[in-house]
Amino acid sequence: MKRLLIFLICAGSTAFAQKAPKNIIFMVGDGMGVSQIYAGLTANKGSLNIEQFKVIGFHRNQASDNYVTDSAAGATAFATGKQTYNGAIGLDSLKQPSVTLLELAEQKGLATGLVTTCDITDATPSSFIAHQLKRSMHEEIAADFLKTDVDVVIGGGRKFFETRADKQNLLDTLRSRKYQVLCDIQSMESIHQGKLINLYAAENPVKISEGRGDALLKSTQKAIELLSANKKGFFTLIEGSQIDWGGHANDAQYAIAEMIDFDKNIGWVLDFARKNKETLVIITADHETGGMALMGGNMQTGEVKAEFTTKGHTGQMIPVFAFGPGAENFNGIYHNYDLFGKMREALRLGQK
Ligand code: MG
Ligand code: ZN
Repeated sequence: MKRLLIFLICAGSTAFAQKAPKNIIFMVGDGMGVSQIYAGLTANKGSLNIEQFKVIGFHRNQASDNYVTDSAAGATAFATGKQTYNGAIGLDSLKQPSVTLLELAEQKGLATGLVTTCDITDATPSSFIAHQLKRSMHEEIAADFLKTDVDVVIGGGRKFFETRADKQNLLDTLRSRKYQVLCDIQSMESIHQGKLINLYAAENPVKISEGRGDALLKSTQKAIELLSANKKGFFTLIEGSQIDWGGHANDAQYAIAEMIDFDKNIGWVLDFARKNKETLVIITADHETGGMALMGGNMQTGEVKAEFTTKGHTGQMIPVFAFGPGAENFNGIYHNYDLFGKMREALRLGQK
């Protein structure tokens, strides 16, 4: 009996040690409901990398003031653990600033990153780093980027940093703080250490169908290469931003092309996590967009027949996919804001 008990304690502690990830890669496909995933799978002739996940949950995602969330309330829930109003950036429902996962990770000495295919000041990335009343306050949000010690920032929206109403050039300030500041994807290749801000488009980067190429994959690879240098670990957000915009446009081909681009990143990130063994990968969306219904399709030809019920978002539950140490904590049905606590616990970031 005594032996058995000792064995159980040892087995338990080993299992526990294995379950604490050093890094979290949090991937958000904006507007990516199950229809968008399945449309991508069909268009890709029957397979996607996201199918490799064995741990799957769902989140409920209502905003504090609306049954249907927007990306700001959705991302603020992920980032701060608080249900809030549509449009809020890093504020709770009483409009008070809430500490974010990225800020907690910084306080604990982890490296942090934000990677998107939209303006970096857009709702999803900015909810992790800024605290503003409305998502439309792009210049105020840009200024909030200077209030943290974020390590890697890659996306669009350069104009909110350098062509501002207050005449400040925030990129100059960032350079003076030893950030490597870039304006295109190619020149990232020569960077192998240090802090990086790459705002590779003045406004939103173009659609995949208009030539964005492998910008998201290159951004993801560079961010993880740089962040991995931190021995304490890292937290990074990687957003496939434009699946949502395909939904708003009721353009199935747009949503599908962006879904497949996002899934290519998922494949690369999974390979990294399998080799690294200390990285927890979480993939989800903030909400579904377009009320997309799949009315027909063909797995051989990749044809998809989709119809849409709205130009806006819908309130349906959203899947969560988890891989790596601690993944099993992401099974089940819970609220979008519970993801904050689950990730904070996984990285042992504690309270405030
Ligand atoms: Mg977004
Ligand atoms: Zn949207």
